[in-house]
Amino acid sequence: MTAREEQYSRLVMAAEPRPFWLDQPGAPPARPPLQGEAAADLVVIGGGFTGLWTALLAKESDPERSVVLVEGNRVGWAASGRSGGFCEASLTHGTANGRERFPAEFATLQRLGAENLDAIRATVERHGLDCGFERTGSIGVATEEYQVDGLRAAAETDGLAFLDTDAVRAEVNSPTYLAGLWDKQGTALVQPARLAWGLAAACERLGVRIFEGTPAAGLASDADGATVRTRAGVLRAGRVALGTSAFPALLRRLRPYIVPVYDYVLMTEPLSAAQRAAIGWRNRQGIGDSANQFHYYRLTGDDRILWGGYDAIYHFGRGISAAYDQRPATFASLAAHFFTTFPQLEGIGFSHRWGGAIDTCSRFCAFFGTAHRGRVAYALGYTGLGVGASRFGARVMLDLLGNERPRGGSSDARAQEDTERPRGGSSDARAQEDTEPSELTTLRLVRTKPVPFPPEPLAYLGIQATRWSLARADRHDGRRNLWLRALDVAGLGFDS
Ligand SMILES: Cc1cc2nc3c(=O)[nH]c(=O)nc-3n(C[C@H](O)[C@H](O)[C@H](O)COP(=O)(O)OP(=O)(O)OC[C@H]3O[C@@H](n4cnc5c(N)ncnc54)[C@H](O)[C@@H]3O)c2cc1C
Repeated sequence: MTAREEQYSRLVMAAEPRPFWLDQPGAPPARPPLQGEAAADLVVIGGGFTGLWTALLAKESDPERSVVLVEGNRVGWAASGRSGGFCEASLTHGTANGRERFPAEFATLQRLGAENLDAIRATVERHGLDCGFERTGSIGVATEEYQVDGLRAAAETDGLAFLDTDAVRAEVNSPTYLAGLWDKQGTALVQPARLAWGLAAACERLGVRIFEGTPAAGLASDADGATVRTRAGVLRAGRVALGTSAFPALLRRLRPYIVPVYDYVLMTEPLSAAQRAAIGWRNRQGIGDSANQFHYYRLTGDDRILWGGYDAIYHFGRGISAAYDQRPATFASLAAHFFTTFPQLEGIGFSHRWGGAIDTCSRFCAFFGTAHRGRVAYALGYTGLGVGASRFGARVMLDLLGNERPRGGSSDARAQEDTERPRGGSSDARAQEDTEPSELTTLRLVRTKPVPFPPEPLAYLGIQATRWSLARADRHDGRRNLWLRALDVAGLGFDS
């Protein structure tokens, strides 16, 4: 280790080893676990954004429907509450991925994504969710010459603002920036734990029962519905929605589609007025660089910088463990990259360091489906971009479960309308009626699945080869080697 690396290593190890967002005032007290048996029209498994949006939208569209949400740990403790809080309109992990994989419906997906982000903002306002929602937009920055043309081309194709070196540095002052791509509409920033806590409170105000510390251990179904097995007993359900992300899927056949990949984050101390002035950033955009091993960063409400990304770590056998949340070597690299980007901030400390598991799939955006003869639906595989898309995933699951009646027109407009004019009648009867396809369930995005990952040791070897190749491409002007080109041809990928 060089003296500089040693210095950064000491600096990051002085930080609190836990997610900043979850370590803030306002955390709700733990909710008691489910005791004994219970029944509901809809049981949601998982208390991250996917599960919370599912419960909220289900109740908003039909207040009569009984909804139970079971969370194995605490609401928002996993990816949702430890994310960067970039709430993106994109449902496809960016425009390039979406355009390539879903060319025929890409325009529709872009519209649905924009409607989804608008609807998130409307929900934040309607329910008074105190989550620091800021529609700042985002800037993709080029830090290597070979990345500049890519941004210029994307600006043209996507109708976004291209910033040359002076213009991008006028926005945010880093000597590493060569160009930028400013998307003014497609990103909002949120305090993600507060969004999860607020969604849970809104669910409860509408009558959703939430049980924490209640892992679901198994699923079964019969003619009357589904059953969810927990430690406390059996939960009867008309329908079940699964939002279990990177954790072992309750439907075993889904396990090959997901690998848990660890992503890491540092949080600085609050910047002083002088430090803030030294970097500009008046418009507070979210920022991401253009490398394969990219960094994402943003300001918080109290002017800290969240600095994350770069490493994407997979553990053999789809390993998930609290021990993996900390990775000193990655934190030291992140700190070094931080000070290269903002040398003006040399000397600032880091208050928090953490990591979390991402539900990575080979097409980089969520996939959906049903099981148990349509009684169980799932939305998984957001691959590091699910803060916004999870609400869309929730709507897809509810449509797949037959719980929203298609009425034509924009489907988000329909969801709003349902909120204002709740339909009466038994939700069970309606679930039987509403099996027609909806705008969402007919999307190719919803009807198709990613290519599954192979079993071990091939998954591990393939992912390591991909990581190595991506890092190498970053060092060689983005040139993709044979392995990456073969994956491109096969439509396969690996990303955080
Ligand atoms: C470090 C990091 C940074 C990120 N940054 C961003 C970002 O800036 N923008 C963005 O869009 N995305 C980001 N992501 C990804 C984003 O956080 C996720 O895509 C999104 O939060 C997924 O929400 P979820 O509800 O599907 O999953 P989670 O939040 O992981 O929730 C799943 C929940 O299910 C529960 N669960 C699992 N199995 C069971 C079971 N059997 N019984 C009961 N409960 C169960 C878990 O305990 C967990 O609470 C980031 C992720 C990480 C880790």
